[in-house]
Amino acid sequence: MQSLTNRSKVVSDKKMTFMEKIYLPAIIKGMMITITHFFSKKTTISYPEETRPFSPVYRGMHVLKRDDIGRERCTACGLCAVACPAEAITMIAAERKAGEENLYREEKYASSYEINMLRCIFCGDCEEACPKEAIFLTNRIVEAGYQREPFIFTKNELVEPLDPAKRIDVSKRQTKAVLEFKKNGNLPHNK
Ligand code: SF4
Ligand code: SF4
Repeated sequence: MQSLTNRSKVVSDKKMTFMEKIYLPAIIKGMMITITHFFSKKTTISYPEETRPFSPVYRGMHVLKRDDIGRERCTACGLCAVACPAEAITMIAAERKAGEENLYREEKYASSYEINMLRCIFCGDCEEACPKEAIFLTNRIVEAGYQREPFIFTKNELVEPLDPAKRIDVSKRQTKAVLEFKKNGNLPHNK
């Protein structure tokens, strides 16, 4: 019968030899392959005891930054939420009251800010969209969990600590041009 494709193979029906019948050569060949892999360099690691070195611009868990004197930088403009393709960000804006100048950098701030980490695809668009350098992705991993609720990250998880020693360094995520720009104290952006 004519074959439909050129991939057909003629199957041999020759009798197996004694060595083929006892499968010993095939077993030894298989064992040799296993042993070779046993001593070759492993591609897996024993996480979490071991971790792989991350790129300085790895896109992991977000941080909401404070400025040099500890005020929250976010002004609840909503641009990050608009830019987010996963619609993962929600916030509630509030007006800064007299006496709160040491808490919030701008006249408007986010009284509530949430990121749904089950939706987030770590694309970094929120970071790109922010005009206040308030949100950055970091090299911290969002840990796995069994419940959905803890994956809604609120300001408690997102805003960096006040203690200068515990601040999250994001300087590696900024270009040289941005770092130079930030040195100019006369610009309203840097005040
Ligand atoms: S990293 Fe991307 S998906 Fe995640 S919150 Fe930011 S914009 Fe949305
Ligand atoms: S994080 Fe940035 S873009 Fe998002 S609301 Fe705050 S200031 Fe606006």
